[in-house]
Amino acid sequence: MNMNDQQTATPYPEKGFFRQLAWHMRNDEENVSLAESSPLMFMHLGLVTLLFFGFSWVAAGIAFLLYVVRVFALTGGYHRYFSHNSFKTGRISQFVLAFIGGTSAQLGPLWWAAHHRHHHQHSDTELDIHSPVRRGFLWSHVGWLLCRKYATTELKRIPDFARYPELRFLDRFHAIPPLMLLAGLYLLGRYLDIHHPGLGTSGGQLVAWGFFLSTVLVYHATFCINSVTHMVGTRRFKTNDESRNSMVLALITMGEGWHNNHHRYPVSTRQGFYWWEIDMTYYILKVLSWMGIVWDLRPPSEQVYREAEELAAAEAAVPAN
Ligand SMILES: [Zn+2]
Ligand SMILES: [Zn+2]
Repeated sequence: MNMNDQQTATPYPEKGFFRQLAWHMRNDEENVSLAESSPLMFMHLGLVTLLFFGFSWVAAGIAFLLYVVRVFALTGGYHRYFSHNSFKTGRISQFVLAFIGGTSAQLGPLWWAAHHRHHHQHSDTELDIHSPVRRGFLWSHVGWLLCRKYATTELKRIPDFARYPELRFLDRFHAIPPLMLLAGLYLLGRYLDIHHPGLGTSGGQLVAWGFFLSTVLVYHATFCINSVTHMVGTRRFKTNDESRNSMVLALITMGEGWHNNHHRYPVSTRQGFYWWEIDMTYYILKVLSWMGIVWDLRPPSEQVYREAEELAAAEAAVPAN
């Protein structure tokens, strides 16, 4: 239901993130429930552990590695595979992508992809759950994630993957992958502390860097695609939304910054449509396709390239004033 249709004593505040949050907390339909809605608060509070366990290059390296691997699992797996079916893979690698994506504590693959399909269907309209154009930057970035209303998975939006029991399991018990990562990092840190003390790391330090810091960075990289890429950047295609292309965001998110390209042609595996539009996720998928792990990668259509050339030519023809 559209929140503007709801019967509420007070009208929805036009401005102010905290006033909007307070409105939601009073509203049954769109209730903000910090405790049960998402692990978001827990992860951010966990950053305080960075103050207690110090620094080591091993911890920083593991945090970076986990960022790269998990952003890839989200962009290549949760997004380009589960949301858009833009390539094919086997049942085991599908599960591996879902599991690694799951360690970034963004709920399950079915929940994520079902919401993302909804976003493409209603981009930047009143029905879009996380449109910065409609509800402001903070709401689209994190606000909607705190809502109990959006915590459930609409399986009817994703019947193609909901038929796999192992994916439904990951969706239902979405806390398992991040908790396994947490435990694994702690045990690895303890092992290194005991057997390689020269590295200067510990269980607590690997948890602080590899789990809390890395996960929070993955969060904000992902959230930027919902918020910033509908606000900042250039528009190659005249899509029915405010999606934009941005090289900076493409570098941070391993290719997702070409969001205007993506909204124009979501079934393409590749989001950087030209060689200069750096798209790390696509390059990795390409290598995986040479290895036979993924296949049927879908390129942008010829019609899309023609349209891009025509729009560029039309723009160049407009005299500068
Ligand atoms: Zn979008
Ligand atoms: Zn998409």
